Amino acid sequence: MSASGASKPNLEIVIIGGGIAGLGLAIALHSQGFQCTVYEQAPEKGRFSGAIMLAPNSLRILDTLGIYDRIRVKGWSFEAVAMKDMEGNTTDRIFLGSKKLFQYDVLRIYRNVFVKELQAICHERGINVKYETKYSHIVEERKDGVTFVLADGTQINCTVLIAADGIHSKVRKHVYPDIDPQYTGILVVCGAVKRNLLDVSEKDEMDGPVMYPGKNGAFVMAPQDFDASEYMAGTQRAFPAQTKEGWGKLAQDPKFLHGFLEEGIEDRQPIVQSAIRNIDTDSIYIWAFHTLPKLPKWSSEGGRIIILGDAAHAIPPTTGQGANQALEDVYSLALLMATKSEGTTVAKAVEWWQQMRQERIDKLLELTSKLNNLRMPIEEQKKLEAGEIFQVEDGGSGEQWRWLFNPELETRITEWCQQQENLELVE
Ligand SMILES: Cc1cc2nc3c(=O)[nH]c(=O)nc-3n(C[C@H](O)[C@H](O)[C@H](O)COP(=O)(O)OP(=O)(O)OC[C@H]3O[C@@H](n4cnc5c(N)ncnc54)[C@H](O)[C@@H]3O)c2cc1C
Repeated sequence: MSASGASKPNLEIVIIGGGIAGLGLAIALHSQGFQCTVYEQAPEKGRFSGAIMLAPNSLRILDTLGIYDRIRVKGWSFEAVAMKDMEGNTTDRIFLGSKKLFQYDVLRIYRNVFVKELQAICHERGINVKYETKYSHIVEERKDGVTFVLADGTQINCTVLIAADGIHSKVRKHVYPDIDPQYTGILVVCGAVKRNLLDVSEKDEMDGPVMYPGKNGAFVMAPQDFDASEYMAGTQRAFPAQTKEGWGKLAQDPKFLHGFLEEGIEDRQPIVQSAIRNIDTDSIYIWAFHTLPKLPKWSSEGGRIIILGDAAHAIPPTTGQGANQALEDVYSLALLMATKSEGTTVAKAVEWWQQMRQERIDKLLELTSKLNNLRMPIEEQKKLEAGEIFQVEDGGSGEQWRWLFNPELETRITEWCQQQENLELVE
């Protein structure tokens, strides 16, 4: 069994996509002694695109990789989202993290701040990331590697090609030409509002996210910078599918954006009304939730192309787990590659890894669907069976989240590798 940092077989690993999954994978592989090169189409200086929540399952990974302490001070930590009734009373708390229960609170941090930190770590650790370099297509996959071409025509050979190029992955298209992301029919519109512009009452809770119910769908507010001086404010509901150009136009149309947020404003709570009225127009963005049909495998037939992150499993954001699962993917893959015995082939290890990951994603998608239903307008919720809507089942203790926040990846990987080694000894 190879120990972390020991010399590794001479694999030329290429990662397409330098987002959270791609940079996270590069750092995780580097920590296990593997070299790799990342190709990212965008410039290094990314654009502002709101905040994301990092939950204990990924914060534990980021801690192991020496990243957590650097980002903790740049975001806002909290435990749970408070669920309000129409009168503003707190009815339930849905745990998103808990230092006491799961070793970490949840961290809300601007995505560009997080990615910038990952980029800085890659620089410091000598990891090769090529920005403004776009992958174009695969020429061939052989028994011993892959040849692919960049958009500028450069041809490159590698032993393993990893697709971390997001939900509209071009690499996945090579492996699965007929699988495309599907619009779920739900659109979210949200933006940023300054804390000092909010009409806060005694019942309002400002230390973490709050979900306010409403006839036109729930409205969510959440602190999103390190001093909670700014809040994300937004809502989601059913909306017809658009063409790519159509979504682009809506995203640029202030009248549509404000109109979507303002629908039914008269029935909303005072704090929500103040958020809608004071939201910064330039900060408003839309997100049409897409999901991805289940992939038969997260790798090509030849096993030299591996797919992960949003490219393998786009998860609607209701559980705030898309990036968290991407980080679980990359950490577990790097650990498995480093821990597996020499007798276990990469293809065999990847096959087990993707089954383990898919089981978890399936469970999460079920949870996401139940949480999505909880955010639906009250009249639409009434049409559903009770089991289709999320319910707090642990009396608010947070225990029902343990499977999600404590996946025990290391134990599962070590046990599987040990099992394989034992089998090899018998053979
Ligand atoms: C509004 C919003 C809020 C969210 N909130 C949360 C949250 O709270 N918690 C959470 O866990 N998740 C959240 N998510 C989901 C999360 O952002 C994704 O799951 C995560 O970004 C997936 O990372 P990824 O690296 O797989 O894909 P991406 O982030 O999409 O990165 C893919 C990268 O590949 C690059 N790329 C694409 N094509 C090419 C090419 N041909 N050549 C080179 N590079 C290429 C792209 O430029 C990009 O940098 C949210 C998403 C959105 C949109």
